[in-house]
Amino acid sequence: MKTLLRILVLLCAISLTAQNTYLHCGKLIDTKSGKVLKERTIVVSGNKIISVENGYINPANTEDITVDLKSKTVMPGLIDMHVHIEGETSPKSYLNKYTLNDADIAFNSAKYAKITLMSGFTTVRDLGGSGVNVALRNAINAGTVEGPRIFTAEKSLATTGGHADPTNGSKRSMMGNPGPKEGVVNGVEDAKKAVRQRYKNGADLIKITATGGVLSVAKSGQNPQFTVEEIKAICDTAKDYDFHVAAHAHGDEGMQRAILGGVKTIEHGTLMSAETMELMKKHDVYLVPTITAGKFVSDKAKVAGYYPEIIVPKALDIGPKIQGMFGRAYKAGVGIAFGTDAAVFYHGDNGKEFGYMVEAGMPEMEAIQSATITNAMLLKMEDRIGQIKPDFIADIIAVNDDPTASISTMENVTFVMKDGVIYKE
Ligand SMILES: [Zn+2]
Repeated sequence: MKTLLRILVLLCAISLTAQNTYLHCGKLIDTKSGKVLKERTIVVSGNKIISVENGYINPANTEDITVDLKSKTVMPGLIDMHVHIEGETSPKSYLNKYTLNDADIAFNSAKYAKITLMSGFTTVRDLGGSGVNVALRNAINAGTVEGPRIFTAEKSLATTGGHADPTNGSKRSMMGNPGPKEGVVNGVEDAKKAVRQRYKNGADLIKITATGGVLSVAKSGQNPQFTVEEIKAICDTAKDYDFHVAAHAHGDEGMQRAILGGVKTIEHGTLMSAETMELMKKHDVYLVPTITAGKFVSDKAKVAGYYPEIIVPKALDIGPKIQGMFGRAYKAGVGIAFGTDAAVFYHGDNGKEFGYMVEAGMPEMEAIQSATITNAMLLKMEDRIGQIKPDFIADIIAVNDDPTASISTMENVTFVMKDGVIYKE
C-alpha cells in the first residue's frame, strides 16, 4: 500500500513539473509593435507560450529543454493566405486531372504539407482543390500527418466555363453538366446551394473565381464571370456559416463586382485600377498579392510545351503585371494580406514573396506583419497566432539573419516549432 502511495505521489510530481522549453532568442520580432527585440527567452509549455522574459533565462527543472537561438532572429510562425496544397506545377498537371485518384492526391498533398511547414509556414489558407484538402486538414490536426494548420475552401466556386469549372478543356463527352455540388454556380439559388454544400463537405471558408484565370484551359484570363447578385448570394449565405469569402480576380470589372458583393480578400488583383483600390479601402477588403506565382508563370510560359498553348499568352500578359500593381496598391493604402499561390510554383518557395514585396516598396517589417498579425486577424485567430505572447499558441520560427536588414533570409527558415512541437532545428 505504502509503495503504491509513493508511486502515486511521484506521478503527481512529474505531471506538475511538465517539461517546458526555453528558447534563447538573439533577436525576437515583436509583430505588434514592429520592433526587433534583443536577447529574450520564450518559455513554452505544452502547445502554449507561457512567458517572454528579458535576457537568457535558464530552466528551473532538469527535465526542461533549452534551445539555443542566440545567433538567430525569431518570430511567430508565418501564415500564407493562398496555397493549393493538393498539387504542384509540372507539365503533367493538366493530365493529372484524368489520371490521379484521391488517394494519389492525398499522398502528394502530405508531402507538400510537410515542405510548407518546414519552410516556416505554420498556418495556411487552402484556396481550392478537390476536397482532399479537408481530409488533410483533419489528418494534420489529429497528428497523423506533419503540416501547417489548414483553413480550407475545399472546392472553389465558378460559373459554367469559369476559372474553376472542373471540366474546362475536357472533350464534350466528358464535360457532363457540373452543378453546385461540384462548385459550379449559375444563378442565385445555385450560389446558395454551392456554399451550403461546402459547409456540408467540411470547408472553413469560401473561394470564388470572380474572373478568368491564367492556368485554366479557357481563352480569357480576366473577364468577369459572376454577376453581383450571384456573388452577393454567396457572401450572404457564407455569413450564416461564419465563412469569409476569397475572390480570385485579375480583371477590374470582376474585382469591383466581388468587392460590392461582399468578399473579404481579392487574390492576385492584377489589373486593379486606382478607383478599385479606393473601393477596396472603403469596403475593408484585403489584397493577397501572389507576386511569386505571377513571376513563375511568365518565366515558364517561355519554356516550349510547359503549359498548353491557350495558357501561354495569358501567362506572358498577366504574370509580370502583379508586382507593379502590388506596389501601387500598397502606396494607395490598400490592406495587404501575405499570400503566394504556392502550387502554381514549387511548395516551399513561399518565402520568396517577402523579397518581391520589399522590392515593390513595402518595408520589410510590414511584409512580415502582413504574414503574421494581419493574416491572423483575417482568419479570426488574432488572439491565438501571429504574435509571440503569453497564452498564444507556440508557433515559432527562426531565420539566420535579421530580415529587416536582409529580407532574403526569409527563404531559409532554420527553426520551426508548431503547436509547441519542434519540427526543424
Ligand atoms: Zn490560386
